[in-house]
Amino acid sequence: MGSQEVSSTVDWQGKHVTVAGLGVSGIPAARALHQRGALVTVVNDGDDERARAQAAELEALGITVRLGDGASLPPSTELVVTAPGWQPDKPLFLAAAEAGVPVWGDVELAWRLRGDNGRKAAPWLAVTGTNGKTTTVRMLASILEAAGLRTAAVGNIGVSLLDAVLGETEYDVLAVELSSYQLHWAPSLRAHSAAVLNLAADHLDWHGSMAAYAADKGRVYEGNTVACVYNAADPATEDLVREADVEEGCRAIGFTLGAPGPSQLGVVDGILVDRAFVANRQKQAQELAEVTDVNPPAPHNIANALAAAALARAFGVEPAAVRDGLRAFRPDAHRIEHVADIDEVRYVDDSKATNTHATEASLAAYDSIVWIAGGLAKGATFDELVTGAAKRLRGVVLIGADRALIREALTRHAPEVPVVDLDRTDTGAMSEAVARAAELARPGDTVLLAPACASMDMFTNYNKRGEAFADAVRARADESA
Ligand code: ADP
Repeated sequence: MGSQEVSSTVDWQGKHVTVAGLGVSGIPAARALHQRGALVTVVNDGDDERARAQAAELEALGITVRLGDGASLPPSTELVVTAPGWQPDKPLFLAAAEAGVPVWGDVELAWRLRGDNGRKAAPWLAVTGTNGKTTTVRMLASILEAAGLRTAAVGNIGVSLLDAVLGETEYDVLAVELSSYQLHWAPSLRAHSAAVLNLAADHLDWHGSMAAYAADKGRVYEGNTVACVYNAADPATEDLVREADVEEGCRAIGFTLGAPGPSQLGVVDGILVDRAFVANRQKQAQELAEVTDVNPPAPHNIANALAAAALARAFGVEPAAVRDGLRAFRPDAHRIEHVADIDEVRYVDDSKATNTHATEASLAAYDSIVWIAGGLAKGATFDELVTGAAKRLRGVVLIGADRALIREALTRHAPEVPVVDLDRTDTGAMSEAVARAAELARPGDTVLLAPACASMDMFTNYNKRGEAFADAVRARADESA
């Protein structure tokens, strides 16, 4: 369980660093670099009131800020530190490439600075994938805690990695969620062990192609020392392990919802079992937990639990802590969240299902569904999703700007399924959607909000969409009580 060597130390004194983007990662990055003696210039596209207030705070420290100009590279820049979301084809990065100036993201910076405050550099257990990252990282942190380790769930999860590595708290190990954007800008990151949960088309406008997206996700395996965890049901994730350059002795560990082969974790008769981190993997399997210890025990969530367990076991965690950590885990809001049962119909909020891959997993978790879907499609097509779910759909209620795309797919592949098309986007729209769904539902059914779309056409974000759904359901529950 030893900590890894810090990969490189940089002498920051007098170094000209350009920080691209004022924001959750840019501000702490600028401060940390300034404190270490770097000459920091922050560049930002926006020039609104908030940006001006943030700029004033940094300028008071002696940091230069250029608002309204995120495109050009300040002369004498020796390093660019960028917010992860900035698209790689921005002129700033082209100029940096031309000038031979390296570009690091927030994760790379955190990786390089870890341990330089004299504290132990905790190893990272990293998780990426198209869907399930947050859930898996939280399950992993829960397991590590159950094992008595000092840990935190950090990264693309609302807790900045920089704060975690530079803060007061000392950790034994970090459970790190990484997005494909963050990985793109993290060239020297070397996790102890890492998992790619799944790979489906997403964010292709940013990465440029599926191959580029996959390659960025695959970076998480580079230099792993103990285990590269892949999804046996998603061969693209195993391909990434094969392509990765890892430390000698690092193992490829699969997870599967079926019976595990050697070097895999899987499920046998309702039990999560480990056939990877045992003395004799040809003959032995170690029981970790029961499927019912996973909350909720939907198939894709059991896959998340197995991935979390694999990373924890790679770190040396005992089986009992895997079970205790999974039992203690509570999913974040709006992720397959059970809201209420009314007249023997279950109402479930999976507002976080903002793409078709997530919705496919969610629809697979129930037998007979009234599906509430729609919103901003972000260029997605729905034929495969609808074909896969058609047999389990009792009915569909469509909301949002791109609902016609889903309706057309339903007409093509599930013409017998009743569809209610709601042509309204006002604040009462969700309550009508719930009322119409309730009319379609029969006892034993599940009314499932799993929109397969982004929410911003009707709501501020997916949280607000989920809350609107839950409020409408609770109001009905109160009426019927
Ligand atoms: P992320 O952090 O990758 O966005 P979350 O854990 O927040 O992932 O889950 C987002 C949504 O993706 C969930 O609401 C659920 O619908 C779906 N989901 C979760 N885990 C998986 C998985 N392993 N495979 C497919 N879909 C999943």
